Amino acid sequence: MRIVLATGNAGKLAEMTRMLEDYRAEVVSQGHLGIDSPAETGLTFVENALLKARHCAEQSGLPAIADDSGLAVPALGGEPGIYSARYAGSDAGDAANIERLLAELRERGHGDRRGTFHCVMVYLRHGADPAPVIAHGSWTGQIVETPRGQHGFGYDPIFEDPELGRTAAELDAPEKDARSHRGQALRGLLQGLAAEMAG
Ligand code: IMP
Repeated sequence: MRIVLATGNAGKLAEMTRMLEDYRAEVVSQGHLGIDSPAETGLTFVENALLKARHCAEQSGLPAIADDSGLAVPALGGEPGIYSARYAGSDAGDAANIERLLAELRERGHGDRRGTFHCVMVYLRHGADPAPVIAHGSWTGQIVETPRGQHGFGYDPIFEDPELGRTAAELDAPEKDARSHRGQALRGLLQGLAAEMAG
């Protein structure tokens, strides 16, 4: 089976590709097929994941997996949430997004530095699939004031796992996959798909 991974984010693509390595599916990225990313017009992770997967499945004629993910910080009313990738502006990079998050917490925060990564992952068999497989994963930690670590992407350097006392960027790939919102969501998705993947 060939499946398109509907993401243009290099960090997410690397994580999803390595986690799917052991499964009996040939995984290609949307970039490999020349498919662009649609505008993320939804207001929830699930809406955005579905529209990304649908766009890719329609364009490619192949089944598609997409995720939508982000970091929700209760002290900031759930920000940056679905706007995590563009928190500091539409062309913002990881460093600028981190800087804005830390500045918002300094200005508006009240000492509660919890943050939860969410990931909704969806599988669409084709563009008009009325019964997508949907899975959700979450990972709660603390937002640290000073970035640490070299691995991962996005907000990883300021997200500390409370049990390990290390930021997500200080975890190697298998450690992050075992705990992360994306790892959980993908494992949930694959359970839901087990019959099709085994076929
Ligand atoms: P999306 O492509 O709209 O789903 O944006 C997801 C954004 O959320 C990323 O660009 C990151 O800023 C953030 N994010 C999601 N997952 C992670 C993660 O595992 N580590 C760090 N940041 C993440």
